[in-house]
Amino acid sequence: MASSTAKTDKSVFFFGGGQAEGDPKRRDLLGGKGAGLAEMTALGLPVPPGFTISTEVCNAFSRDKRMPDDVRAAVEAAVARLEKTMNARLGDTAAPLLVSVRSGGRASMPGMMDTILNLGLSDTVAEGLARISNPRFAYDAYRRFIAMHASIALGLSKEPFDHALDEVRGRVAESKGIDRTLLNAEELKRRVPDADLPAEELRALIPVFKAIVKKETGRDFPAEPREQLWQAIEAVFASWNNHRAIVYRKMHDIPDAWGTACNVQAMVFGNLGDTSATGVAFTRDPSTGEKLLYGEWLPNAQGEDVVAGIRTPMPIRSQGSGGARAEESLEARMPEAYRELDRIATTLEKHFRDMQDLEFTIQGGKLYMLQCRGAKRAARAAVRVAVDMVREGLISKEEAVLRVDPAGIDQLLHPTLDPHAPKKVLARGLSASPGAASGHIVFNADEAERRAGQGKPVILVRVETSPEDIHGMKAARGILTARGGMTSHAAVVARGMGKPCVAGVSAVAVNYQSQTMTVTVYDDAGRPTENITLKKGDIITIDGGTGHLYEGAVPTVSAALSGEFGELMTWADAARTMKVRANADTPLDARTARAFGAEGIGLCRTEHMFFEEERIQAVREMILADDVAGRSTALAKLLPFQREDFVGIFREMRGLPVTIRLLDPPLHEFLPTEARQLDELSKSMGVPVQKLAQRTKDLHEFNPMLGHRGVRLAITFPEIYAMQVRAILEAAALVVADGIQVHPEIMIPLAITRAELERTRTLASEIAAELSASGKTTTYSFGTMIELPRAAILAGELATVAEFFSFGTNDLTQATMGLSRDDAGKFLPAYVDSGILPRDPFVSIDQEGVGALVKMAAERGRKARPGIKLGVCGEHGGDPASIQFFFGVGLDYVSCSPFRVPIARLAAAQAALRSRGQNGGQGTA
Ligand code: PEP
Ligand code: MG
Repeated sequence: MASSTAKTDKSVFFFGGGQAEGDPKRRDLLGGKGAGLAEMTALGLPVPPGFTISTEVCNAFSRDKRMPDDVRAAVEAAVARLEKTMNARLGDTAAPLLVSVRSGGRASMPGMMDTILNLGLSDTVAEGLARISNPRFAYDAYRRFIAMHASIALGLSKEPFDHALDEVRGRVAESKGIDRTLLNAEELKRRVPDADLPAEELRALIPVFKAIVKKETGRDFPAEPREQLWQAIEAVFASWNNHRAIVYRKMHDIPDAWGTACNVQAMVFGNLGDTSATGVAFTRDPSTGEKLLYGEWLPNAQGEDVVAGIRTPMPIRSQGSGGARAEESLEARMPEAYRELDRIATTLEKHFRDMQDLEFTIQGGKLYMLQCRGAKRAARAAVRVAVDMVREGLISKEEAVLRVDPAGIDQLLHPTLDPHAPKKVLARGLSASPGAASGHIVFNADEAERRAGQGKPVILVRVETSPEDIHGMKAARGILTARGGMTSHAAVVARGMGKPCVAGVSAVAVNYQSQTMTVTVYDDAGRPTENITLKKGDIITIDGGTGHLYEGAVPTVSAALSGEFGELMTWADAARTMKVRANADTPLDARTARAFGAEGIGLCRTEHMFFEEERIQAVREMILADDVAGRSTALAKLLPFQREDFVGIFREMRGLPVTIRLLDPPLHEFLPTEARQLDELSKSMGVPVQKLAQRTKDLHEFNPMLGHRGVRLAITFPEIYAMQVRAILEAAALVVADGIQVHPEIMIPLAITRAELERTRTLASEIAAELSASGKTTTYSFGTMIELPRAAILAGELATVAEFFSFGTNDLTQATMGLSRDDAGKFLPAYVDSGILPRDPFVSIDQEGVGALVKMAAERGRKARPGIKLGVCGEHGGDPASIQFFFGVGLDYVSCSPFRVPIARLAAAQAALRSRGQNGGQGTA
């Protein structure tokens, strides 16, 4: 991360010849790509020279819609220096300089913004280039440039260019005796790849492409390289605000104000023949974290070919790549370049002390580095790399803890496929992003979004994905592609999102027209045995950890928490000061919570115990009773059940604190709503339907969340809380009698006055005294939730009675913001999408508003009762950003769902480490 964000006067930074003007630590200014290029240059690595135009220029351009004047002069000076370094000139036919113009923001946004390659070509320059290299290469580069520049800088559709190219492909196909009428565009491309298009055909394409530009824009394609360059630079800056970049930023919390830098760099060519190549590499395996150079390459290809998924790339390393693939590896085919790459990878990892992702090009056997940056990695890999790097002595344990994104480890905590469940494997692809998911097949992103919006789990199936599919990938449970490698768009983006992804399943043929996919199933010997056609809506399961595609829905099992993950969590626990509890309502939940490392239960919602079959009947009897006696009889039936649950929970928690909230929801929630159910209930209870209907009507509330619930139930029906307190204390006494410690914390929901707490405390202490008189003595503490603004404001008052506060931030958010928890989904997304609210306040705490109330209540509570125990048990207790906030407020613990406990432990550790001034210790990439 940037060490500073100070404004600078300089806007253009040169790199080349072993020297870099830009400070690689200024990622804020140079962007990630620019900083990496500067750093690699300064390290003496082979980087083609160039210059970076800063993000500040982008911001000025976005604001004023024009390029600042001083930038023009600075760019001209940098171009002159580049020409000198390269001994070549823009527009020179004898020694032409060609450049790439690429975006590169502070945070990596793969494929979201624009890039133009081969800039500097015109008719005369292309002829010159043909003379000094070879004609095919020169015309190929030129036609690619025209199409790219036209689409990115001039805003034209790619379609007419693709169409013209397909015409050429068709002619070549015919000349080879292939019947083109039988092939669709995709098949034609496969039968006649770009590399098969001869020089004269490519040359003939140039005037066709130029005519398209003239027709669409009314102007000639710019022949002057300077004009091309300015158009390209402006297009790169404008691409910061294209739709897909905006969507991506929103998803990844990247501020709009960061802007992108623009890198202009001398071209090196991976498509100059068989001794040239291009590729991408990771210094470790991005799925597993294994310490091995990992990546893909393509001989005689230009950079974008590897990530575009059009040609299937080959492995970099021969080991572990399997028979035929090993022979195709860079290691086998270009051993020298491979060794050089391996050496550079090691240098960069040592330098940055983090796993890197590299882009390289080999031109005529010589390796050039085009990019390095901190590698995106799957959560599993993030954990392994962090732990391994501690073992390798590269980073400290604290740095390791800070290196792993708490939200990302969700992936590790989620279930994987049950190994014992029967399942039918249909096909296998690349294990592009771990995790397992089942869902209905959909074939396009909009449909994925629509169906997911209706609550349906979907798997997005595509031939390959592109940045336009981002919203669908986000909505889907998992992604499957028929083409593309581990660094394809689908793979990279899915890993970043933490979604299961199986990529490159070549046995799958996707037909968008008929909305079907046909899977060729192979036997163990590799013989095709059957073709299965699945249609939209059919259910499949994918396992991104193994790369398998299964028929139907396959059951899953919980994650394991051992190995490197366990080790990292021990370091996190050593660093953290805030405790982490779980919200758990049953003995089984309690056990899961402990397995995930919970240090207590922060919220046991007792009403969840009321819903089981034998109990609901008694609850309904209680609700329908006409008087105290009737209610007490019904409650007496419930008592043993509640006591039994508490006994189970206390046993599981073995002396750890257990906060039990007394009944909270409005009573109507326990009555059936449908006529048929009412009928059955009337029969089973011997109560006339009319009476049932009347009672339901009586209980009806217009705004039940603000209605007769929480402690208000105890004010009108104290016997309900009395039964619950009795069940808690009797259970505690039973467990204590077995020699197990118990720490019950009785918690009152929805209180807003001291008097409510005094009444309920008296009720509890009377029962405790009664039990004590019969020899059942247990201790307990008494506290309240802070769920309403008045409670927060009067926290000082409440703390005179309550020994602890637990912030119910779900209700507190609802009441403070006036947003219904149940219905806000209708319009809240629009607030978040348009940036009115930075995030969904039910997911991540509204720090300025709701957070301010939490802070105030904590302060007032502590003042009235020094040492008062403070925690949070709303959903925010499992959200890393909120946890950071609660740490700042000084809460003693957060409580969240059992599955989120490890996330909370890690987030709490990071908050503590950051407060001590530690950071992740990464290099500048
Ligand atoms: C809360 O309001 O934050 C809370 C934990 O209670 P519930 O979600 O049960 O209303
Ligand atoms: Mg609540």
